[in-house]
Amino acid sequence: MSVSTTEIAVVGGGVVGMVTALLLATAGREVTLVDSLTHLPARDDPWDLRSFALTPGSRRILSHCGLWDTLEQTRIATFEGMEIWDAASPARLCFDRASAGDRPLAYLVEQSNLITACHRRLAQEARVSDLAAQVLGITTSTEDVRLHLGDRPDLRARVVLGCDGRDSPLRAMAGIASEEHDYQQRAVVANVRMQLPHGGIARQRFLPEGPLALLPLPTADEVAVVWTTTAEQAVWAEECRDEAFRDALAQVSDAWLGEVLTTSRRLGFPLVRRHARHYARDRIALVGDSAHVVHPLAGQGLNLGLLDAAAIAEELGLASSAALQFPQSLLARYSRARRGGNLAMLTVTDQLNRLFARREAPIIGLRRLGLACVDRWAPLKRRLIANAMGQRGDLPLIARAGPSNSPLTRKN
Ligand SMILES: Cc1cc2nc3c(=O)[nH]c(=O)nc-3n(C[C@H](O)[C@H](O)[C@H](O)COP(=O)(O)OP(=O)(O)OC[C@H]3O[C@@H](n4cnc5c(N)ncnc54)[C@H](O)[C@@H]3O)c2cc1C
Repeated sequence: MSVSTTEIAVVGGGVVGMVTALLLATAGREVTLVDSLTHLPARDDPWDLRSFALTPGSRRILSHCGLWDTLEQTRIATFEGMEIWDAASPARLCFDRASAGDRPLAYLVEQSNLITACHRRLAQEARVSDLAAQVLGITTSTEDVRLHLGDRPDLRARVVLGCDGRDSPLRAMAGIASEEHDYQQRAVVANVRMQLPHGGIARQRFLPEGPLALLPLPTADEVAVVWTTTAEQAVWAEECRDEAFRDALAQVSDAWLGEVLTTSRRLGFPLVRRHARHYARDRIALVGDSAHVVHPLAGQGLNLGLLDAAAIAEELGLASSAALQFPQSLLARYSRARRGGNLAMLTVTDQLNRLFARREAPIIGLRRLGLACVDRWAPLKRRLIANAMGQRGDLPLIARAGPSNSPLTRKN
């Protein structure tokens, strides 16, 4: 059977894969994007059930490859503030624009808005070739990796980037093990109309079974719900009548925004933590959920994936063609740049989930004290929010605020 060739193959056309391909193309690289899905996901009416809280750092990455302006702006909600509290005590932690340098803290973007914008930009990008195929196996040699695509010709690539999601077949094919933990929780998502306006504030209430988040949608009184709870309660919430769900939600939200007036259908996701032991092996690197799956309580999974995309695009985009012939050291540098920060987020979200599950009185007292202290300590608050907004840490150049956010230019 005939064989086609490419410099860089990106396997997986989810948001992380498409953004990785666009960033590489922006840096002047030729890329083949391989995905088994060819259709756009349908948009839910009036809002997608799946939406992502994206940080200002992610916005900069999307802007860098021309995606942010391609999004339908009227469908994006901005977070003007954030409130976090413990269902077991009255202590709260509040962030406002002032603690974030007078900027929005995050943006809520629907999945279909992001994917449609990616498809539009990809259609304009001559350096990216789309290949509708499923990778069924790989063969690695000293010169390249051969992707076996079923009844299509094999594809040979100097570098293969696995952006194929949390169950990453490519990770398994490359023989990369991962550490994992089943949270025995499910996240239920829905969009609801509340009695009171949200005021642009993202709210999160920590219950022993898991956190409940109400995130502002672009209209004044609609919010996106992410309710993490036991698998049993979640399945009930997914399947029960709308009225029963509205009542349950009003109860677990402690009627924050009054009554729940209407609800969409619900969708549930089993929650795991997973971290690949290595992000790179030979000519293959893992990017996004294929490398790490984090608890959604901090809304960081896709943000981390976009930072990975920016980091790998900087390594491969800035390299000479000669360096790409043997990319192992570039991929190892990418792995070093990203693994520590991702591990820190995996650990923080994991610890928060465990801490708020505890019901002992001394622990509740400590949580109350902790939240109250942080709330009054402005410098610490600014640090925390800067971390959550993707403004601090060892960030890829294109994710940084300020003049260093310049276009990638090849060295030679
Ligand atoms: C309830 C919930 C809420 C969340 N909220 C947020 C949030 O607010 N903010 C945030 O940043 N993150 C959030 N996340 C995390 C976020 O959803 C993920 O991190 C993100 O969707 C991962 O994107 P990805 O492109 O890496 O993977 P995916 O979207 O899974 O894409 C993988 C792609 O690979 C393709 N593929 C798989 N196998 C093959 C193969 N063999 N050959 C070819 N193609 C293949 C698939 O078709 C798919 O298109 C949330 C997660 C959950 C569960």
